[in-house]
Amino acid sequence: MKKCIVIGGGLAGLAAAARLADNSIDVTLLESSPKLGGRTYSFLSRNGGYIDNGQHIMMGCYRHTLDFLRTINALDEIEFQEKLKIHFVDEGGKDYYLDSSRGLYPFNLPAAIMKYKALSLAERLAVLKFFIAEIFYIGHNCENLTVEEWLAKGGQSKNTVRALWNILAISTLNTGIERGSAEMFRHILHEIFLTGKGSARIVFPKNSLSETFSFKAKEFIESRGGRIIISERVTSIEVAGKKAVKIITAKNIYDRFDFVVTAVPVNALNRIKLNPQAIKFKLPRLEHSPIVSVHLWLKENPFKERFYALTGSPVHWLFNKGTHITVITSAAGEIINYSNERITELFCLEIQKYFSYFNISEIKDSIVIKEKNATFIPDGASNLERRNVESPLENLMLAGDWTDTQIPATIEGAIKSGIEAAASVLN
Ligand SMILES: Cc1cc2nc3c(=O)[nH]c(=O)nc-3n(C[C@H](O)[C@H](O)[C@H](O)COP(=O)(O)OP(=O)(O)OC[C@H]3O[C@@H](n4cnc5c(N)ncnc54)[C@H](O)[C@@H]3O)c2cc1C
Repeated sequence: MKKCIVIGGGLAGLAAAARLADNSIDVTLLESSPKLGGRTYSFLSRNGGYIDNGQHIMMGCYRHTLDFLRTINALDEIEFQEKLKIHFVDEGGKDYYLDSSRGLYPFNLPAAIMKYKALSLAERLAVLKFFIAEIFYIGHNCENLTVEEWLAKGGQSKNTVRALWNILAISTLNTGIERGSAEMFRHILHEIFLTGKGSARIVFPKNSLSETFSFKAKEFIESRGGRIIISERVTSIEVAGKKAVKIITAKNIYDRFDFVVTAVPVNALNRIKLNPQAIKFKLPRLEHSPIVSVHLWLKENPFKERFYALTGSPVHWLFNKGTHITVITSAAGEIINYSNERITELFCLEIQKYFSYFNISEIKDSIVIKEKNATFIPDGASNLERRNVESPLENLMLAGDWTDTQIPATIEGAIKSGIEAAASVLN
């Protein structure tokens, strides 16, 4: 039986390990922290139950993710919107819906745009024209453009950017439109809107992220004879010729394996020493962007819908979890440096501007989560850098959301990379 060591127990590592274990490979997964899931995790809160480190939005076009959930018997843990429906709220509380529930695919999508009343009729027609020209690749060449430049070239008004594109771009890229890559954004729009009728649906975990992903993955991997070892950081890899021959952690030396999959963030991979030191990974230089989430427990929860998109606000989404609400800011460049108290106050004041029925005095408790390196910034430079990902070793494969998946740092990218690394091992 072939043996493989997987380094890193985030979704990339878990996906690789699950695929390998399911194909009769003897897998040992080494994770440095005491928990699995990496940046997609949950913790037990003082208010009871699991709380996620941040709301993770998944879409119907996350094919590798859905396949992974099927493999680990976790499809029951998620539910799908019937069709894409987003409730946008403007400052002052005016509601607008991007609602594709009427009509047959793909005609329901232009119909949804035509009914999106946050835009004037001329703006809606301009969105349709832009969408058709750009998404079918007959419009402007967007290579080397930022999202902002691309939208401007495509005749999108300031109001259209504010009330529609900004929130879609910042949520999918975790980067402002002035920096995000137009090429990447166009690719995502294509995946979401033009790869089948189910692709644009939002997918919700029924329970916490850890219950959906890592608990089930661990159960599955162990049921196939794999071993998962937590709290064990890999510090170096010893190389002989063109092969990894020893994996060294603070506690152990592993030397009985045929393959290695590394599934750690790029900065963490940089810290793992290769001995002899002349051998080097050729890793992309990527900058990272933060996400800030605030969980709020209220005496009475006045929110009726499952989630809301806030237009023109530094706070982008409000998710209603029943027991509490979660408010999120992506690309939280400035905000991440504020104190927790200041962040909570800022978020609450914003919510009040959008929902007159929200009352700050109703807050019982709050938890702020700052994820400084939530995702890398998918700008033009990162598009070029990611193409250079290479392992110098014949028996070592690289995985992780930062590898060249052609999509931004997402659950889907991480899982896709893990599955592809496992496929290389199996081949
Ligand atoms: C707040 C937040 C919100 C997000 N929202 C979304 C969203 O809405 N939709 C979406 O699709 N994606 C979202 N993402 C992105 C998504 O979470 C990540 O892209 C994905 O989880 C990355 O998985 P990964 O396995 O590549 O890396 P990681 O999750 O970082 O996993 C790497 C693992 O390797 C371990 N490790 C590091 N060094 C070592 C070592 N030397 N030895 C052993 N183990 C090591 C780490 O502890 C970690 O567990 C969000 C991320 C954050 C933080």
